[in-house]
Amino acid sequence: MKALVKSKPEPGLWMEDVPVPTIDPHEVLVEVDVTAICGTDLHIYNWDKWAQKTIPVPMHIGHEFVGHVVEVGKDVKNIKVGERVSGEGHITCDYCKNCRTGKSHLCAHTVGLGVNRPGAFAEYVSLPAKNIIKVPKEIPDEIAAIFDPLGNSVHTALSFDLIGESVFISGAGPTGLMSTQIAKYVGAKNIIVSDVNEYRLALADKMGATHTVNVLHTPLDSVEHEYDIALEMSGNAYALQTLIKNISHGGKIALLGIFPEHVSIDWDNVIFKGLHLKGIYGREMFTTWHKMLALLQSGLPISPVITHHYHIDEFQSGFEIMNSRNCGKVILNWKK
Ligand code: NAD
Ligand code: ZN
Repeated sequence: MKALVKSKPEPGLWMEDVPVPTIDPHEVLVEVDVTAICGTDLHIYNWDKWAQKTIPVPMHIGHEFVGHVVEVGKDVKNIKVGERVSGEGHITCDYCKNCRTGKSHLCAHTVGLGVNRPGAFAEYVSLPAKNIIKVPKEIPDEIAAIFDPLGNSVHTALSFDLIGESVFISGAGPTGLMSTQIAKYVGAKNIIVSDVNEYRLALADKMGATHTVNVLHTPLDSVEHEYDIALEMSGNAYALQTLIKNISHGGKIALLGIFPEHVSIDWDNVIFKGLHLKGIYGREMFTTWHKMLALLQSGLPISPVITHHYHIDEFQSGFEIMNSRNCGKVILNWKK
C-alpha cells in the first residue's frame, strides 16, 4: 500500500510502498479516506530535535484520520466491516493504576499512532478496537478527520467552567482557534486571543474572539481586559510568562502548548496569586470524545478552522502551507 514514510533521518517525508498492516484478534483494519496534518507531523517532517529523539526510522506517520472498516479481528464484537470510523491515537496499557481507575489519558505507557507505531498517512491503518470511534452520520468526513485536535481543544477549553467568564487564549493555531469557538459556544463572556500571525488572528475573529491581540505590536501588559481563565495553546515561553503575570488572582490556566525548551516561571506569581495550573495531554478517554461528539451534534460550528484541502499526492504543498502558518487545519484527501 501507499504510505507517507519518514524513511531517512532528515527533513522530508516520502511516498513509498509498505506492507498493509496485519491485525491482532482485538484490532481493526481501516481503509483511510481523509486525513489532516497535525503540528506533530510537521515536527516530524521538519525533523526537529524532538522528532529525532522520538521517531524510529523508517516509519509511516499520521494520526488524524477518518475511514471505513475493512477487517475486524476475531475477538472484536461491536464493530462491523463498512462502518465509518475515526480513532483515538493514544493506545494505553489497560493495566497501570491510571488505566484501571478511569484515567487512561494519564497512562505512562501510552503508545502514539503515527509516532511510536505505524500511522494513518497510509491506505490502511490498524488500531485496537477499544480506540475506534464510530462517526455519527451527520458529521462530515473532514470534521471526523480532525477529531483528534478538536478533542485536544475540547479537553483544554472545558477544563474550567467558562460560562460568563473572561478567557484568554494564547496561540491561534488550530487548537487555539477551535478552543475559541468552544469558549464562545459554551457561553464565555470575553474571549481574548493572542498570536503573532495576522492570518490566524483574522480566523480567531471569525471563530468567536471578542478581542484579538498581535503580541508583536501590542505588548500583552498593555491589554486592558482582565481574565480569570487562560488557555496556553502557543507553546511559546514568553506567552506563558506574560499570561501568568497578567492573570487575575485566583486565575486558572490550562496548558496544552508544548515548549521546545526549558521555561523559567515567576513562581511568586503562582504562589501569591493562588493560581491553579493544569497540564493537558491528549483527550480524556473517552469523556472528551463523548463531549466532543455532543458539541458537534448540537451544532458547534467548527468548519472555518479547515482552510486548505489537498489530494495526498500534493502532500508537499500541505506541509509547506503548514510551515508558513498562514492556515488553519490542512486536509489531505486519500480518495478524490
Ligand atoms: P501551532 O503551532 O499551529 O499554533 C501555535 C500558535 O501560537 C501559532 O499560531 C503561533 O503563531 C502562535 N504563537 C507563537 N508565539 C506566540 C506568542 N508569543 N503569543 C501568542 N501566540 C504565539 O499549534 P497547534 O496545533 O494549535 O497546537 C498548539 C500547541 O499545542 C503546540 O505547542 C503543540 O505542540 C501543542 N500540542 C499539545 C498537545 C498535548 O497533548 N499537550 C497535543 C497537540 C498539540
Ligand atoms: Zn496504563
